[in-house]
Amino acid sequence: MRDLLIRDVLALTQAAVCPQAAIAVRDGEIAYIGPEADLPPAYAGLPVYEGRGRIAMPGLVNAHTHAAMTLLRGYADDLALHEWLTQMIFPAEARLTDEDVYFGTMLACAEMIRSGTTCFADMYFFMDATARAVAESGMRASLSVGMGSGAGDVDGGRAKLAGALDFCSRWNGQAGGRITTMLAPHAPYTCSTTFIEDVARAARASGLGIHTHVSETAREVTEIVTEYGKSPVEHFEALGVFDVPTLAAHCVAVSERDIDIMAAHGVRVAHNPGSNMKLASGVAPVVDMLAKGIAVGLGTDGAASNNNLDMIEEMRLATLLQKVSTGDPTAMPAAECLTMATMGGARCLGLEQLIGSLEVGKRADLILVDHSLPHMEPFLASRATSHMVYASSSSDVSSVIIDGSVVMDERRLTTIDETAILAEARRRAAVLVE
Ligand SMILES: [Zn+2]
Repeated sequence: MRDLLIRDVLALTQAAVCPQAAIAVRDGEIAYIGPEADLPPAYAGLPVYEGRGRIAMPGLVNAHTHAAMTLLRGYADDLALHEWLTQMIFPAEARLTDEDVYFGTMLACAEMIRSGTTCFADMYFFMDATARAVAESGMRASLSVGMGSGAGDVDGGRAKLAGALDFCSRWNGQAGGRITTMLAPHAPYTCSTTFIEDVARAARASGLGIHTHVSETAREVTEIVTEYGKSPVEHFEALGVFDVPTLAAHCVAVSERDIDIMAAHGVRVAHNPGSNMKLASGVAPVVDMLAKGIAVGLGTDGAASNNNLDMIEEMRLATLLQKVSTGDPTAMPAAECLTMATMGGARCLGLEQLIGSLEVGKRADLILVDHSLPHMEPFLASRATSHMVYASSSSDVSSVIIDGSVVMDERRLTTIDETAILAEARRRAAVLVE
C-alpha cells in the first residue's frame, strides 16, 4: 500500500508549521500537503493513517555511516582515531564476511528506522550484502564500496575500482529507485595519488559522485602536508576529486582556504559530531561552512565510534557542540539543525529533488513523532521545531514511511524480523571479536 492519507497531523514543512494538516500520498509520492480543511476531494478516499497527536516531518537522512559496524559496537572505546582504526577496527574488519555485513546492516536498518532515519549514505565492504539489506528493509540509501590502495598496489587498486564500478552499475536505481551509488576512496591517507586520480577519472566518465573522508584529524592534515605539501582538501582538489559531486565526511581540521576551496567546488560535507567528540578528533567549523554556502548534512558515522545511529541525538550534539565551541548560544538554531539533518543530508546525497522536505511532488519519506509525552509539553505548534531538536527522543518516533510504504507502524517494524536479526547479529559479533 503506497497510497495513504495522514489526517489531523502537525506538519513541519520547509516553509511553515502547519497544524491540523493532511498529507496525501499517491504511489509513494506526496500529492497534497496543507490544511486538512483544504484537502482536494480527489484525495479524500485514500486509506486513512491517523496523525492525531503526532508531528509529521521529513525522514532524517544519515549522511555518513558504515552500517554493518553495528557488529563492532562497544568493541573498542576510549581510543584516539589512529589507534582505534589500526589496532582494533582494521584487524576485526579483516575477519568480516558478506553474511556478517548483511546481518550488521539489517541490525542498523532496524535501529535507524526506529529512530526516524529513512535514508543513509554508506561506505563499507561486501556492499552487495548491504544493498540486499537496504532492499529488504525498505530503506533508501546511497551506497559505495570503500576502497583503499597504497602506492605499491597499482594492480590491486585497479581491481578494487573495477569491482566498485561493477557494483554501481548493478545497483544504481535498484529497489524501486531507493538505491543510488557513489565511488568511495576511503581517505587521503589510505589511497595513493595514482589511485585517487584513477577513481576521480572513473567518476567523471561514469557520472558518479565520490564519498570519502577528509581532514578528520589534525594528525591527518600534518601527515598529508608532510607527504604532499598540501592540505587534504588541496590534495584532493589537485587530483580532480572535486570535479565530480563529492560528499566529504568530517572536515574537522580545515582552514579558511580549505573551506573556500570546498565552497568553490560545491563539495558537500557530512558532519559527525558524536564520532568526532568520542574520538576527540575536534570540532568541524560548521557555522563557517554554512555561512559560505556549503551543503552540510549530519551523520552518525559507524556504531563503533558513536556508538549509536540515533540522528535525533546527533542533532542535539551538533547544535550544542557549535554553541559551546564558538561561545555563541545563537549558533546553529534549532530550525537550521533540523534542516541540516533532513534537507542538508538530501543535498549531500544529490537527492534534494526527491527527498529532504515535505513538498508536493517529492517521495513520501516521512516520520510521525508522538508529541503527547511529558517531555514534549507544553506542546505548542510554534515550539514543534525546538522540541524536535532540544527535547525529543528517538523513542518518540511512532511511525516511519519510506517511498509511501509504512516500514514502522506504531513502533512495530513491518519489514524486519527484529527478534531473528538481533539474535543473529549478536551471535556473529561474538565470533568476529573473539
Ligand atoms: Zn566514516
